[in-house]
Amino acid sequence: MSTVKVRFAPSPTGYLHAGNVRTAVVTWLFARSQGGHFLLRIDDTDTERSKAEYEEDIESAMVWLGLDWDEKARQRDRFDRYEEVIEQLKADGRLYACYETPDELALKRKALLSRGLPPIYDRAALELTDAQIAKHEAEGRKPHWRFKLNHDPIEWDDMVRGAVKFEGSDLSDPVLIRENGVPLYHLCSVIDDMDYDITHVMRGEDHVSNTAAHIQMFEAMGHKPPVFAHLPMISDKEGGKLSKRLGSMSARDFRDNEKLEPMAIVSLLARLGSADPIVPFSSLEPLIKEFDLTKFSKGAPKFDMDELLRLNQKIIQDTPFEDVNVRLANMGMEDLDEGFWNAVRPNLHKLEDIKDWWQVAKGPVEPIIEDEAYVTLALEMLPAEPWTEETWSEWTGKLKEATGRKGKELFMPLRQALTGMSHGPEMPLMMTLIGPEKVKNRLSKSRKAA
Ligand code: GLU
Repeated sequence: MSTVKVRFAPSPTGYLHAGNVRTAVVTWLFARSQGGHFLLRIDDTDTERSKAEYEEDIESAMVWLGLDWDEKARQRDRFDRYEEVIEQLKADGRLYACYETPDELALKRKALLSRGLPPIYDRAALELTDAQIAKHEAEGRKPHWRFKLNHDPIEWDDMVRGAVKFEGSDLSDPVLIRENGVPLYHLCSVIDDMDYDITHVMRGEDHVSNTAAHIQMFEAMGHKPPVFAHLPMISDKEGGKLSKRLGSMSARDFRDNEKLEPMAIVSLLARLGSADPIVPFSSLEPLIKEFDLTKFSKGAPKFDMDELLRLNQKIIQDTPFEDVNVRLANMGMEDLDEGFWNAVRPNLHKLEDIKDWWQVAKGPVEPIIEDEAYVTLALEMLPAEPWTEETWSEWTGKLKEATGRKGKELFMPLRQALTGMSHGPEMPLMMTLIGPEKVKNRLSKSRKAA
């Protein structure tokens, strides 16, 4: 049995955005490719900003993307456990009380920066006398608590970044408990990773310096740190920071506003930044089979919306009717059959586009008729029923003979009269899908809806 155990740990403080989705996809593929265990962990210790609505959004996005989980945990269910560890860390002298206000800390920061120094916390709290502490307490100040880092080198072998090295003395002692007594992300995350036996932590590069502190925290808790993999941040097409629009784009935007296929997003995000080519996948299985984290590089990969749209188009065009008929029925097209699907799918960019073609087939449409004489002749020359896919060439063949027209001149007025548009699916198919009655109506009623 595999011993791999990973977690995806979003904070329910907003909708699941593209960066999170990518971490989820990569973490999930890693777990599944290793036969491992995937924990969905809701990092909701920030009780003010965490909302049930966002937790639901996370779950529904995961389900939509096809990413299942073996286990779910919520940090807010674990405060008692965090308290136990806090007591131990205090007893071990690794947590110390600090009384600075946010303003005082900001001032210290500014002073250091203005002298060209890194804004590392000066540990002034460790020098407080009992009298000073008593004075702060008497003033009603509540302490926040910092983890005391050892000033030693911190090194790890990152699965994406290779050898990473920090000096403990280059880092600020992280705040683990707020003034109101609520433990913060760093502490809860490390305790959970330890208690749930997480073997591999995958997350964004923005957490690299956190990881340095976390490694010492694992050690302080007597636990071996997991293996880390930090994925580079995604940049835009030009290599700059992801624009606000794309960066804040959420799974629900992709689903509800952009109307994209989940597998288009998964196909893109699963391989963004990896040496494996980005190609459309209709299901997760082949992606699991081919997943290889060692192929990811630390350079920032580029997110290109056009590429996502191309993947979407390809996936839709490759989808057989049986995989889409329930969705079509839910979109109000119950009687749309396989013949129609096969005829129009090469013209779809998004599934949603089918509504336009359904409308063309069902009517009403506004025919475009510029050359009434030609269209009237076309009406007179319509082949006998029943119609087949050969009917169109029979009809246009006769019209060609009668008028001497060819190419666009021959076909376009017919397409425009029948569909009210100048482009679209193949006319031999479209003509039979519209059917004789509506074709006659559209050709004869000139500008009237049919
Ligand atoms: N809740 C954290 C975040 O969303 C989790 C980071 C981690 O994976 O440890 O950034």
